[in-house]
Amino acid sequence: MYCINCGKETSENVKFCPDCGIALNDENSIGENKNQNDVQNAFPQTIILKQEKKATNGIGTAGFIIALCSLVFSWAPGVGFILWLLGFIFSMVGMGRQPKGLATAGFVISLISLVVIILIIIFFGALFSAILMNAK
Ligand SMILES: [Zn+2]
Repeated sequence: MYCINCGKETSENVKFCPDCGIALNDENSIGENKNQNDVQNAFPQTIILKQEKKATNGIGTAGFIIALCSLVFSWAPGVGFILWLLGFIFSMVGMGRQPKGLATAGFVISLISLVVIILIIIFFGALFSAILMNAK
């Protein structure tokens, strides 16, 4: 018989081709090779699917946009805090996904707007108590 891989003539009772080492007269190992080929053929498609999934990070993008809004509306009592909380949560969840660029940016902006919100609360608190002090 002839080797299925390199075409060299081999004796009938050898399990492996002496020239190229491929398994001969062994349907199981040929089947395994076939399965391996199937896996290798399927693998690039799996990578492409994963990349397509990774290409969109809706929650991360939402977190980024909401965090930006919370920074813009951080002066508004109530609204700024609700937007901040939403932006913070969305960014945190989004950072667990890919691509997390926008989610990380949203997280950083959330931290900045948190500082702004706290400063505004302190400022208005101080202003309010100053008004109260003057009223007395
Ligand atoms: Zn061979």
